[in-house]
Amino acid sequence: MTADQTYQVLLYYKFTPIDDPVTFSEEHLAFCQELGLKGRILVADEGLNGTVSGTVEQTEQYMEAMHQDPRFADMTFKIDAHDGHAFKKMHVRHRQEIVSMKMNEDEDISPLEETAEFLSPKEFYDAMQEEETVILDARNDYEYDLGHFRGAIRPDINAFRELPDWIRNNKEQLKDKKVLTYCTGGIRCEKFTGWLMEEGIQNVGQLDGGIVSYGKDPEVQGDLWDGRCYVFDERISVPINQNEHVVVGRDHFDGQPCERYVNCANPPCNKQIICSEENEHKYMRGCTHECRISQENLYVREHHLSQDEISRRLAVIEEEKQTKQEA
Ligand SMILES: [Zn+2]
Repeated sequence: MTADQTYQVLLYYKFTPIDDPVTFSEEHLAFCQELGLKGRILVADEGLNGTVSGTVEQTEQYMEAMHQDPRFADMTFKIDAHDGHAFKKMHVRHRQEIVSMKMNEDEDISPLEETAEFLSPKEFYDAMQEEETVILDARNDYEYDLGHFRGAIRPDINAFRELPDWIRNNKEQLKDKKVLTYCTGGIRCEKFTGWLMEEGIQNVGQLDGGIVSYGKDPEVQGDLWDGRCYVFDERISVPINQNEHVVVGRDHFDGQPCERYVNCANPPCNKQIICSEENEHKYMRGCTHECRISQENLYVREHHLSQDEISRRLAVIEEEKQTKQEA
């Protein structure tokens, strides 16, 4: 591999006021395209949140340019080496929020005004092992299922905006405890912990730089993290714990240890499921019977399955189900 074939993925965000985010987005898109980057960046009044990929040279140029802008002078970039782009296109989108909690106007939380104490990876590592501490995952269920801190609470949510309701219904678990929160890169916690404190949960600490920084930290080296960390690009997940790899993911169909995510082949469903290659074929990548027999099933199309072959596979699944029920 020559140097110019080496790519990097950058993960970064900054809460900082941006005047006229619409114009900023347009100009920023042009700038990123000119550099040759690919990725996804959200821009709002409250700041910027992005993941981009490019060659080492392209990404270094980008970071340098961003650091010359006073608004982003101290922005932290989490950098991962990669063997190619991690996105197909370059998008810069204007949004109401750079991380969406979909709060009402009067509830709007600004991390610039209130957010929990930031804990370095070492401080977080130490705090996790103290009594009267609870570790709260601030991500979605499908992210947790692939990897999480040992003993962390798993909110049963599919999107970040559902987290406040979940907390209100499960407050008992957090009462009179020191609450440690974490997310992928830190952005969700910056917003969420401010809200949590407004809700009366005052003893809160957030992992500075998120899971990704924790995995790169030379001292903690990802210790106490199990599984892999879900990421929102073509890599799907990245390793965190440098010393020990405990698989926590479980196959959707047979419950066996597995870390392979696929999307259900039925487009209206598109649910992410953990599933081995073998089970992908066996179940025609359908998360349920309905998804398997859907006329739109993409697996069936990709593999040109005949109606006979579909029936044969469904019969195998049905037969196995019967055997299990009898046992
Ligand atoms: Zn499905």
